[in-house]
Amino acid sequence: MSLTALQAIESDHLIPNYARQPVEFVRGEGARLWDAEGTEYLDFLAGISVLNVGHCHPAVVGAVREQVGRLTHVSNLFYSEPAMGLARRLAERSLGGKVLFVNSGTEANEAALKLARKAKPRGEIVSVHGGFHGRTYGSLSATPQESKQAPFAPLVPGFVAIEPTVAALEAAVGEGTAAVILEPIQGESGVHPLPDELLLAARAACDRVGAALVFDEIQTGMGRTGTLWAYEQTPVVPDALTSAKGLGGGLPIGALVTGPRLADVFAPGDHGSTFAGGPLIAAAANAAFDVLSDQALLARVRELGERLRAALEDLGLANVRGRGLMVGFDVADAPVVARRLLFEQRLIVNATGPTELRLLPPLIVGEAEIDDAVRRLAAVL
Ligand SMILES: *Cc1c(COP(=O)(O)O)cnc(C)c1O
Repeated sequence: MSLTALQAIESDHLIPNYARQPVEFVRGEGARLWDAEGTEYLDFLAGISVLNVGHCHPAVVGAVREQVGRLTHVSNLFYSEPAMGLARRLAERSLGGKVLFVNSGTEANEAALKLARKAKPRGEIVSVHGGFHGRTYGSLSATPQESKQAPFAPLVPGFVAIEPTVAALEAAVGEGTAAVILEPIQGESGVHPLPDELLLAARAACDRVGAALVFDEIQTGMGRTGTLWAYEQTPVVPDALTSAKGLGGGLPIGALVTGPRLADVFAPGDHGSTFAGGPLIAAAANAAFDVLSDQALLARVRELGERLRAALEDLGLANVRGRGLMVGFDVADAPVVARRLLFEQRLIVNATGPTELRLLPPLIVGEAEIDDAVRRLAAVL
């Protein structure tokens, strides 16, 4: 089927919810994608930080092939080994508490918000301007962006949005606060790390009033910043974190991970999901976890991130920022630049705003591919 035919189906039969570029991808391998004409692209977006292991990583493909022919789904009324093993590894390699599986990022945050409210009944949720936590009602209520929230009012009550300053945080958190939720590096709004002082103030304020500090690591986690979790490079340990995106090696899964204090807040019947933690998805996630929790890979992500940021600065780009292979910079007419990179240079990047570009390459990318991406950027800039 031609691209024109696909576009005709879209216009007749798909709810017009996405602005797609006119490209049909048919195959992927590592940091490369191929369109229907056989043209090769360098992928520095990785499905928006989902393909941290790269496209069609052989370990993930092998695990899925093996599991899909054996058992795909049994529901959470029974046991299956892949999810139990994944939960143990996730908890041991993070906050040391317990794990609840879901199917996406926004659902992981829904679970975190419900958990925080159950731990502190009727408590308020504090979130930070510029943050993004998802599109379902609870997560959307914690995503203080007018354009995303306004058409869907009224939102969930009991949410408070603050500017990312210590003073605003201290003023907002009180005895009635159930949780503070934030991304240690704000991703969707353009790769903006929150300052350590703010994270420390959030930690202290939550401790003072017995509120839960929740880090949304859906984009920053699974090795993206050069440690398995971004909080490891901050002076703060949260009470809970949420993961999704890179967690499934390309397949949909999310998780809420708690520390010990919040591990037993939920009881049977409090929350649930038909598909969550199924053996097929968990097998994929276990394979991705093997790849992304490797210390040598994580050290390389830090090195390659430095190499990429230094090269971008050498190009004279303004406000180059980020950690590991989560990188943003300022450029005029960012959406036009992203389109030109796609169609002239076959480099996939993402404009997060009118003047900001974001780079999220697969974490298995090579030095040569980093240098190649920088050359393609230079050609357009
Ligand atoms: C992508 C993202 C989400 C939402 O995840 P979905 O799987 O799209 O629901 C939430 N928080 C952050 C930080 C994200 O990057």
